[in-house]
Amino acid sequence: MELYNTLTQKKEPLLSHEPGKLRMYTCGPTVYHFAHIGNLRSYLMEDVLEKFLRYSGLEVQRVMNITDVGHLSSDGDTGEDKMLKGAKREHKTVMEIAQFYTDAFFADCEKLHIRKPDTVVPATSCVADFIRMIEVLLEKGYAYLAGGNVYFDTSRLSTYYVFGNQNSEDLAIGVRDSVEEDENKRNKADFVLWFTKSKFDSQELKWESPWGLGYPGWHIECSSISVKYLGEYLDLHCGGIDNAFPHHTNEIAQSESYLGHPWCPHWFHVLHLNDKRGKMSKSKGEFLTVSLLEEKGYDPLVYRMFNLQSHYRKPLLFSFEALDNSAQAYRKLVSRVEALTPGGEPDPQAAKPYRDEFFAALSNDLNTSLGLTALYNVLKSDLSDATKRYLVEDFEQVLDLGLLEAAAKTESGQAQEVSADFARQVEELIAKRSEARKNKDWAQADAIRDELQKMRVVLKDTPDGVTWQVEK
Ligand SMILES: [Zn+2]
Repeated sequence: MELYNTLTQKKEPLLSHEPGKLRMYTCGPTVYHFAHIGNLRSYLMEDVLEKFLRYSGLEVQRVMNITDVGHLSSDGDTGEDKMLKGAKREHKTVMEIAQFYTDAFFADCEKLHIRKPDTVVPATSCVADFIRMIEVLLEKGYAYLAGGNVYFDTSRLSTYYVFGNQNSEDLAIGVRDSVEEDENKRNKADFVLWFTKSKFDSQELKWESPWGLGYPGWHIECSSISVKYLGEYLDLHCGGIDNAFPHHTNEIAQSESYLGHPWCPHWFHVLHLNDKRGKMSKSKGEFLTVSLLEEKGYDPLVYRMFNLQSHYRKPLLFSFEALDNSAQAYRKLVSRVEALTPGGEPDPQAAKPYRDEFFAALSNDLNTSLGLTALYNVLKSDLSDATKRYLVEDFEQVLDLGLLEAAAKTESGQAQEVSADFARQVEELIAKRSEARKNKDWAQADAIRDELQKMRVVLKDTPDGVTWQVEK
């Protein structure tokens, strides 16, 4: 497939070091809080990419780290320790926080049909490996000890600014933005590999090291975990665009200095989820999580659909109106799949041009919206229902929107018996809620939703309005 490569700033064929196999690394979450749906956009698009690579016959080996130590609130070694912040907020230990939010992250992923990577590695399980890598970097002269910490010496590299959209100016801004400058650094871009002295005296997790009791910097974990589990040659590295600098720049610096040869030729970055005010995040506006979307009556797969409707390399503009449109499109898709008559033999010959269309869309820089168009084209074609079903199943290996399951559910559902009185009461409340939502009276809409929840009524948004059923 052709995939945009941040390293060369071009669309390029995605190649693998070993034919037939693809080694893929993903920067995982820092598990100090629930995941924002903006962060989940990256994991979601990476999931589609992984599924497409498998669909196209490659054997994908995918590794993801879990950051449970060392990540400060600014990616440039300053600010608060994120894990410590989470632990303080909830009066728990760092490891309790890590476990809780790791589980929460994968629960969200499951709801969004994001496949769990083959190998998931918490950073705290590999500290000995980080220490070994830092030792080698010191031996080779790429790192130095200053003020009790070990730093990477970026002046030793001729190509530190590998991602073309960064330059010394951006870096200068990055440094200016950080509150306090670390006097131990020889060069502004240098970064910490190992902390023994930092402002976090309350740091809970510390390990013995040749440089004293301390803890690893954030960037070393991905270099080390990737080399440990995927070997010296990585094919594809993924992350959100936020990670490109300084995190990925630093990963490349460490890995290539350690290995002594080029490490990963292809870099995949997913753009931000924005709202009208810019990038959406935990700290700005409403903290949007998958659970919150569910509480507001959205199926998490509607959020998956919303993401697939646009290209990963463009910022995606979020609003509830836009999500409502996706909900409507999703319901329409489900009802079209539902309308297909079961049984019969598919005709692979007739299906081929549609498969080709789908494949061409996805192999052209993961164009998911054209992939969806291919699906629509199948559904409105004059192919037999059996062939349509066959193609839906085929495309769903990549899109994974749960269309067949949702259709099966709607077919067998709605068989609930409720009294006419109860139904009238529910209909009235739904009408009131729609009115409140129209008037943007979210408090009122939420109160009505709570009331319905107490009545065990589950709402679903469809193109023809809201439908409901009683939970069993
Ligand atoms: Zn990383």
